[in-house]
Amino acid sequence: MNGPEISLEVAPELRLFVAHDRRQGTTAVVTDGSSTLGHVVESLGIPLTEAGELLVDGRPVPVSHIPAAGEHVGVRPVRRPQEVPGAPLRFLLDVHLGTLARRLRLLGVDAAYESEDIGDPALAARSAEQRRVMLSRDRGLLRRREIWAGAYVYSDRPEEQLRDILGRFAPALAPWTRCTACNGELSKADKDSVSALLEEGTQASYDVFAQCTACGRVYWRGAHHARLEAVVADAVGEFGVAGRRTPTA
Ligand SMILES: [Zn+2]
Repeated sequence: MNGPEISLEVAPELRLFVAHDRRQGTTAVVTDGSSTLGHVVESLGIPLTEAGELLVDGRPVPVSHIPAAGEHVGVRPVRRPQEVPGAPLRFLLDVHLGTLARRLRLLGVDAAYESEDIGDPALAARSAEQRRVMLSRDRGLLRRREIWAGAYVYSDRPEEQLRDILGRFAPALAPWTRCTACNGELSKADKDSVSALLEEGTQASYDVFAQCTACGRVYWRGAHHARLEAVVADAVGEFGVAGRRTPTA
């Protein structure tokens, strides 16, 4: 490229996306004179889902801004909690995020997930069709124009992934109301109506409390829930149940 040269400063939170030699302070970028700032940012490796405010000489500009020679561009991370247009807040997770999907469901957050790899085009289409925020660690998927909204999942550890998403989107939490296996909603169930589905030991020891309205799976409280109770207690303790989003009527 042989066009205007701009100086560019990437926020520390976003430096993992750019080449090593651009991670320190301000670097020079030569643009082609016709590409938008959004394109320039994306071509450096930063998914636009992760870019917050774009500043030119300190003033916010839209992604459609065409950089001119000598401009100083700052790229900020997304503001947390992040606004997502359209309620309710729903997610779609890509194939590598099964544990995160189950934990979100445990907290009552609508988290669709296919354990089979249906491919990027199908995922992006589903995100658009169902207005779900696409969660992924795949930058190529997040670059697809069709997606409704998207977010890069920064950690590869489920505990950190969950805190990242709860902190970023502040969803309302409703623990124990959603099936961790299929994302269906749970309804109250009494032991008699589901006893045929339970093993004898389970029947004697536990009180059934819910059944999935979609797949029929039965949930009961028992000692093996201790680990899940801890996930719920930690999340509710740190983020509260209300979330930030006002429910729409
Ligand atoms: Zn289910």
